[in-house]
Amino acid sequence: MKVLNLQCQHGHGFEGWFSSEDDFQHQLSTGFLACPMCGDAQVAKLPSAPRLNLGASQPGHESRAHAPDSPGVAAGPTGQCAVPADNAASLVPQAVQAAWLHVVRRVMASTEDVGQRFAEEARKMHYGECEARGIRGHATPQQTEELLDEGIAVMPLPVPDGFKDTLQ
Ligand SMILES: [Zn+2]
Repeated sequence: MKVLNLQCQHGHGFEGWFSSEDDFQHQLSTGFLACPMCGDAQVAKLPSAPRLNLGASQPGHESRAHAPDSPGVAAGPTGQCAVPADNAASLVPQAVQAAWLHVVRRVMASTEDVGQRFAEEARKMHYGECEARGIRGHATPQQTEELLDEGIAVMPLPVPDGFKDTLQ
């Protein structure tokens, strides 16, 4: 339900109740809407602002009470919309990168670097020739494929350039 402040050509102000803005426009265009005091069909919708100003124009505490709220209410939605939008653009990639570096760091901390012997060590562990442990190292795509063919689980772990240097 929409309550609109209306006024006829003769300055009669009255309220009109409508189901929607479209309902108001429809009643206005079909001439169904008329001033209840003089029957004038030339009815205009008043902006809601004058009604709000009635309260503000009253002397005393009410205008003062509203004064601190008004800037906050006006600035609030603007700020709430603008800040997360900015943050979303700048923070999400950082958060993703941070989470990924965290994973890389954990993997590196809990695995042994076997370097170029990765495929060899992985195979030895798989066939029980040495104790199973977490290892990391380098394997060519062909080596990785061979390991996978033998049922040895290996996980590619792209490490950002320069990150290995900072760890070791
Ligand atoms: Zn009127």
